[in-house]
Amino acid sequence: MLPRSRGIVFFRIHQLAWLVGIPLILATNLLAEPIHSNVVCREDLSQERRNELAGKLRQITGWPDLKFDRSGVLRVGTASPVGGSPTARELVAKTIYGKNVVVLEDASKHSDVAFCRVLPGKWKDDSSSRPPAHVVQIDFSDFEQVLGDEQALQSFNVAWALLHEFEHVVNDSPDAASFGETGECEAHINQMRRECNLPQRADYFYTLLPLSKDSAFVTRLVRLAFDQEQPAANKKRRYWVLWDANAVGGLDARKQIAALR
Ligand SMILES: [Zn+2]
Repeated sequence: MLPRSRGIVFFRIHQLAWLVGIPLILATNLLAEPIHSNVVCREDLSQERRNELAGKLRQITGWPDLKFDRSGVLRVGTASPVGGSPTARELVAKTIYGKNVVVLEDASKHSDVAFCRVLPGKWKDDSSSRPPAHVVQIDFSDFEQVLGDEQALQSFNVAWALLHEFEHVVNDSPDAASFGETGECEAHINQMRRECNLPQRADYFYTLLPLSKDSAFVTRLVRLAFDQEQPAANKKRRYWVLWDANAVGGLDARKQIAALR
């Protein structure tokens, strides 16, 4: 979801994550339940974090029974949705029932993970019969460092980050390549925000706060804009989230400064 070396938020890189121990977990759960799910937590993702993630996904999707089961497998349940985003439900269903396996990993306080990212997974036994696998690494601690307007914070949390990575995995949607764009991936996520009546992300790339440029201070504050349409007034209202990129990671000072010019 989030910026790393290119100063972006929510993004992907190309390296491998080994799925040690995951094949057994998946096989067990896929056989134990009549309805398959291709989304599963690694054991190191705590119950508290699973609950946090599921709770925010329930708000976005409107599925009241969505949860991780006792084995860490994501289930949407059987209850009908109440509110929420139909587009988000479509994406989650496509991820759970699709051809890819998605493993969720707690990467909190990893210096090389800014918020969230997805890596191609490689099965330990390297069997050609295995489905394509992806590992989503989530840095929960980064989200705890984000400040800002309440409306924008509701549009920028760990569940939105996960949906961003699902979008990469399922639809192979690219991120923005240049400044001033949201990119195809976030455009799809913005549609979900609209359906939840939340502000939409205005840009894929964050920017340094003006006071932070060339600052001698240890903190390096960056910000990201979200716009809420005001149909009655025929205009938009802007909200912000901000964080210290030195603490979260993902800051490339040279490219960020270039982007500000
Ligand atoms: Zn991305």
